[in-house]
Amino acid sequence: MDTVTQRVEPVATGPKTFDAERARADFPLLSRSMRGKSLVYLDNAATSQKPRHVIDAIHRYYETLNANVHRGVYQLSEEATSAYEWGRAMTARYLNAPSPAEIVFVRGATEAVNLVAATFGRQRVGPGDEVLVSAMEHHSNIVPWQMLCDERGAKLRVIPMNERGELVLDRLPDLLTPRTRIVAVVHVSNSLGTVNPVREIIREAHARDIPVVIDGAQAAPHGPVDVQALDCDFYAVSGHKMFGPTGIGVLFGKRALLDEMPPYQGGGEMIRSVTFEKTLYAPLPMKFEAGTPNIEGAVGLGAAVDYLRQLDWEAVARHEADLLAYATEAVSDIPGLHIVGTAARKTPVVSFTLEGAHPHDIGTVLDQEGVAVRTGHHCTQPVMDFFGIPATARASMAFYNTRDDVDRLVAGLHRVREVFPR
Ligand code: PLP
Repeated sequence: MDTVTQRVEPVATGPKTFDAERARADFPLLSRSMRGKSLVYLDNAATSQKPRHVIDAIHRYYETLNANVHRGVYQLSEEATSAYEWGRAMTARYLNAPSPAEIVFVRGATEAVNLVAATFGRQRVGPGDEVLVSAMEHHSNIVPWQMLCDERGAKLRVIPMNERGELVLDRLPDLLTPRTRIVAVVHVSNSLGTVNPVREIIREAHARDIPVVIDGAQAAPHGPVDVQALDCDFYAVSGHKMFGPTGIGVLFGKRALLDEMPPYQGGGEMIRSVTFEKTLYAPLPMKFEAGTPNIEGAVGLGAAVDYLRQLDWEAVARHEADLLAYATEAVSDIPGLHIVGTAARKTPVVSFTLEGAHPHDIGTVLDQEGVAVRTGHHCTQPVMDFFGIPATARASMAFYNTRDDVDRLVAGLHRVREVFPR
């Protein structure tokens, strides 16, 4: 069972409780006021706040280490290179990748999927072939595959979901056909919170020699991931959703596959030698990192992982499960509120609609109360189409959220109900 799945199993009793108040103190932005009230930040699935550890690491990098990496023979460049590679090594450990060489720095989960589709996808997918995604993918795990299928004359197929927002895996054996070349599935849905049984999907696909790409953007913020236990071929994450900086993310890929793949982009840093006749590419992971990389991003992501690694994740799991249960029950008392996404296994995400109030109106009234939630389709339009709604309001929580935050959300929703009576 993978870490995230394990995490949301009901926990009977546990010795330690997670001290969310103490964790909050590590995140300077959480002490801000908004609209004259203390900020309640419930948009963690869009981006998370950053601990001082990350902010300081980036600050320190520019004050003491800044130089271009992998090129200089002078000490400062060597130190910058070490800091950059430290970020890679830390991330490799967080994902339990066998080697840092299998960790490719990218801009985020979106670029990670695009990289795989444009290289591995082009190698594997031809006319009449199929790429299998799920009904609850973020657009970033649909559109790159759709572009590939259009280019190659291939077909995009979809694992369906049920009314609770769970994948219907009974259909999987039929959907994995002799033409399926790649399966690409989200680990945790950003709009529903569903934790998908990706291990099972990977096992089924591998039984037919089909490689699997996992979009882990919403899983990694809720605990360390074990790509070896999952046995996924590729795993994509975004640094900014896991308490690190924006503009940095990671693609894990199995070495044998990455070795066989052509480069994604050409330029400096990704070569061994260049003549006008022929270019020889650099070894992994540099082959996929053309140009000056996001050095500060790698350092910041390393610091984020360094911070995350010292948390007691079992205690965090109990805390997040408590937040989800508490919030689910509390919002259910609001007249006319419908939760969208009621899977048995969820991260602390509550997506909902409210009769008589458009989600954008809900968001605007909550903002007046100092409560930040996301409203819209959350880059999952097919999910909205499935439920026959244009949008939801979504409260997405992280380990630093508390029951008090949920109480403020509920008070805000009662205010919405007053402003927009049913
Ligand atoms: N996948 C999922 C499930 C997401 O929630 C997101 C962002 O919301 C992405 C992919 C894309 O991440 P990014 O915009 O950081 O590339």
